[in-house]
Amino acid sequence: MYYTGKVPVKVNDIILLMTENNLCEYKFGEPLKNHTSFKIGGPAKIFVQPKSIQGLICTLEKFEQARIIAKGTNILAPDEGVDVVVSTLGLNSYQVDGDLIVSEAGVSLSALCKIAAEHGLSGLEFAYGIPGTIGGALYMNAGAYGGEICDVVEYAEVYDYNKVIKLDRSQMEFSYRSSIFKKNHWIVLKVSLRLKRGDRQIITKSMEEIFRKRIQTQPLDLPSAGSVFKRPKNDFYVGKVIEELGLKGFRVGDAQVSTKHAGFIVNLGGAKADDVKELIKIIQQQVHRSYGVQLEPEVEIW
Ligand SMILES: Cc1cc2nc3c(=O)[nH]c(=O)nc-3n(C[C@H](O)[C@H](O)[C@H](O)COP(=O)(O)OP(=O)(O)OC[C@H]3O[C@@H](n4cnc5c(N)ncnc54)[C@H](O)[C@@H]3O)c2cc1C
Repeated sequence: MYYTGKVPVKVNDIILLMTENNLCEYKFGEPLKNHTSFKIGGPAKIFVQPKSIQGLICTLEKFEQARIIAKGTNILAPDEGVDVVVSTLGLNSYQVDGDLIVSEAGVSLSALCKIAAEHGLSGLEFAYGIPGTIGGALYMNAGAYGGEICDVVEYAEVYDYNKVIKLDRSQMEFSYRSSIFKKNHWIVLKVSLRLKRGDRQIITKSMEEIFRKRIQTQPLDLPSAGSVFKRPKNDFYVGKVIEELGLKGFRVGDAQVSTKHAGFIVNLGGAKADDVKELIKIIQQQVHRSYGVQLEPEVEIW
């Protein structure tokens, strides 16, 4: 705990951090619902936004137990809040060098897709519309429409709570929605993507087509965290199964199985993390009872 009663015992560390070269910004009691796509989550007692990689490392040296948040598009944050949260969104610079894009962790995937298209670079089209950052995408090995981030990453710079290390793709232990970063809780600082020369118009058209499919099939008008469950095996379509069980539209409080895509849980306005957790439990039980399959959440439950 970083608080004794209402007084943050580590406040001096934060003030020091602020005054050391203006490395980051911070807030006390910041509601996490303002930082998650679910619009759910109680206060972070200390919410730090480093302005640079140096600021991030400095922050993590002081707050080893801090949780990392980027765009918050795959996080269910607890109603009671958490102690220390560190945002990566201040790590927002990138460079294009031939067919390589080198990006800091906080740059959004969609921005990188557009940058790739502008430079006539192909390979990242699949990720257009995934609402997270490149750091979050690497951690989760995000994927869609037949592509995964592991297909295009060349190397990453990572903080392992001791030093900065550089890993190439073969060392990242990627698997379906997992990576070495997730297994070891390492922090992605910088990512390099190796793309291929392509035709700008074809790349842009393919991105638009993928985005159109998302709009048609996903409940993008309501807060959610995307697909709630991992696909347990190749031919098991979670959304279809949940729909077949008659759970489309089923609610716990304001948490609802989306009426548009049963693989999503949406927040109708006032959903609590506990409502979502309860709904997840009900779905898991019903799927297990009917199909003998144990669904595992894809969403990170804090
Ligand atoms: C409408 C919608 C559609 C979606 N569609 C897809 C999809 O098609 N495919 C897909 O894979 N996902 C999808 N998602 C889920 C989500 O966008 C991805 O998992 C994304 O990669 C998460 O990135 P983020 O920046 O938001 O990470 P966050 O949600 O902020 O964080 C997710 C996890 O990654 C960790 N993390 C974040 N940044 C770092 C870092 N730099 N270093 C170490 N750990 C880090 C966090 O601690 C947390 O545990 C969707 C979500 C929504 C809301």
